[in-house]
Amino acid sequence: MRPPVLDPLFAPVSTLPGIGPKIAKLLSGLVGSQPDRDATVADLLFHIPHSLIDRRHRPGIAYSENGDIVTLDVTIGRHAAPPRHSKAPYKITAFDETGQISFVFFHPRRDWLEKNYPEGERRVVSGKVEWFHDKPQMVHPDYSLAPEEAEQMPPIEPVYPLTAGVAAKTLQKAMKAATGKVPHLPEWLDEAYLQKNGWPGFTEALRVLHAPEERQDLDPHSAYMERLAYDELLASQLALAMVRKHMRTLGGVSRAPEGRLQTAVIGSLPFRLTGSQVQAIKEINDDLAEPVRMLRLLQGDVGSGKTVVALATLAQVIETGAQGALMAPTEILARQHFSSMAPLCEKAGIRLALMTGKDSQKERRLRQEQLDRGEIDLVVGTHALFQGNVTFKDLGMVVVDEQHRFGVHQRLALSAKGQGVDVLVMTATPIPRTLVLTGFGDMDVSRLTDKPAGRKPIKTVSVSLDRLDEIIGRVGAAVSEGQKVYWVCPLVEESEKTDLAAVEDRHRVLEHFLNQRVSLVHGRMTADEKDAAMADFKSGKTKILVATTVIEVGVDVPDATIIVIEHAERFGLAQLHQLRGRVGRGDKASSCVLLYKGPLGETAGARLNIMRETNDGFLIAEEDLKLRGGGEILGTRQSGTPGFRIARADEHADLMEVARDDARLILEMDPELENTRGQALRALLYLFGRDAAIRLLRAG
Ligand code: ADP
Ligand code: MG
Repeated sequence: MRPPVLDPLFAPVSTLPGIGPKIAKLLSGLVGSQPDRDATVADLLFHIPHSLIDRRHRPGIAYSENGDIVTLDVTIGRHAAPPRHSKAPYKITAFDETGQISFVFFHPRRDWLEKNYPEGERRVVSGKVEWFHDKPQMVHPDYSLAPEEAEQMPPIEPVYPLTAGVAAKTLQKAMKAATGKVPHLPEWLDEAYLQKNGWPGFTEALRVLHAPEERQDLDPHSAYMERLAYDELLASQLALAMVRKHMRTLGGVSRAPEGRLQTAVIGSLPFRLTGSQVQAIKEINDDLAEPVRMLRLLQGDVGSGKTVVALATLAQVIETGAQGALMAPTEILARQHFSSMAPLCEKAGIRLALMTGKDSQKERRLRQEQLDRGEIDLVVGTHALFQGNVTFKDLGMVVVDEQHRFGVHQRLALSAKGQGVDVLVMTATPIPRTLVLTGFGDMDVSRLTDKPAGRKPIKTVSVSLDRLDEIIGRVGAAVSEGQKVYWVCPLVEESEKTDLAAVEDRHRVLEHFLNQRVSLVHGRMTADEKDAAMADFKSGKTKILVATTVIEVGVDVPDATIIVIEHAERFGLAQLHQLRGRVGRGDKASSCVLLYKGPLGETAGARLNIMRETNDGFLIAEEDLKLRGGGEILGTRQSGTPGFRIARADEHADLMEVARDDARLILEMDPELENTRGQALRALLYLFGRDAAIRLLRAG
């Protein structure tokens, strides 16, 4: 149960002054609370200002620099009102001993302006100065106060990342009330560690960050920020460690069969395993043989051949009589895994089935019965499927493919599906070590470092969209030589409609100019339509596939040799790398064309350069981390580190390591979080939304 002392922090934001249901909703989107409920006061408090406005800055009109926020002590001059119904702005002149300025208002309310800018009187006005044709002006000043009211203006104001529809003043007011609600909480950090770092208490840190006095207070390395970042990291590491420990103590099953099925699977492959595939299979076999649960991450760049490793090791588990499951993030991928595994399974005598959200009720029921009777050895499906109420006769191992946002909750759901289920998470995204730690805790990691033999590096060029005609011509020539081509158009959520139009347009244009049928896949199509389009492309009925980024992860058409990525400047590095990995899977030379629309911004330019220079996923991930911070690597749009509100993978990597060790030590000394510090730590887990782990405790 949540400690009652936290109650005020878990009240919905709508209990704060000035926050109605509509703004509460906008705020919930802004501060990233869980989707099914309004943000809480705590959620709001973890929304830290990114900068501050210093209204003590009073340079005088003539010395105010363009773009500065200044406070001016002025005498109000003439009002120049535009004629009624004119769109022209309303202007008010004002002066001090250094010079003259115009205050500019659009859509003015005249009576309000006359009251707040009374002609001939002194006012204290604060806002942003802009120089325009050598004259200073201030558009919609933030404050205009009579000198005797001037202390109503806060000398320093925090500036929050905002969302449309929530005024800065509304947010500031709500924050002020929210900070007032923070109760006294017992310290959960080690006293000696606090002292050593010179960190303040939790409440103090929050209070200062929402009422900063210096810009440095908001620096990621200020004592206040580090304190909270560490709290967040510790909560995360502690939760991960608790889950891991729980999964281990549930006890695993030792599975060390003769290896007959595994040998059969490997034997029927049309190629030789790479050294690192062999190594990874051995590591996983060893895990399976141990009587503890496996929790392993299989990392390998796109095209490194993870699927085979998964199937070979699933075979071990199946040989012992248990069942296996493979979860894919999309329908297309689930089907693809199914069809590539089917022939191998058939040869080895593994009974394979596919389950997706698109199955009919009847099919679904049949599959479920077969699973319950143990007539299916291996089931491939989407994540959604496994979150539902699918049951197994004896589930022994689960493989989760390409899932970066695999949280504590899902892991718990999984562990409930069987006795001591072994878990293998596969990711093509080369996740730097710090992010492995944030996302997965100290999972064991196997890496596929070498590519299958005979692969040629992919030649990458970037070309301006102005040369579209030329590229279409070259694609036509390549196709008539028998090559296969992916053509990717971006799909940006905010404008899904127009982007859909763009992909359909491109499809039409290519069919028209190249005078042949072209396949099309996008997110709005039904599963059957997508399947049909993919199948045509795979079989060679069509030579060109136009797609939105639905093909981003995992799609495997080994004889495709060219990928054109339109609006490459809109994609992140990790995504570009994933997309490029769709080609270069066979033994033929492949190429990637990054079509960009200029002019390129600095970061976009840097990304395209990196793509041209290297094919190495790990290098790309490191560069990405430098360019953007952790967010993009895990494929999320947030600016910070995914799943974190304060801590940042790039800035707080060192704290992460400490938090991991700290979490381990805590659980060693007080495994049930029962002593005084343990109780305080429970509150910490709640505060940062990591409380699912508490249910695992005996006294939870
Ligand atoms: P990913 O790691 O991106 O999931 P896949 O498992 O989809 O990669 O494998 C990519 C392609 O490489 C598939 O067509 C697969 O059959 C093939 N492949 C896997 N291992 C090898 C190997 N050792 N030698 C040659 N081809 C391989
Ligand atoms: Mg794959």
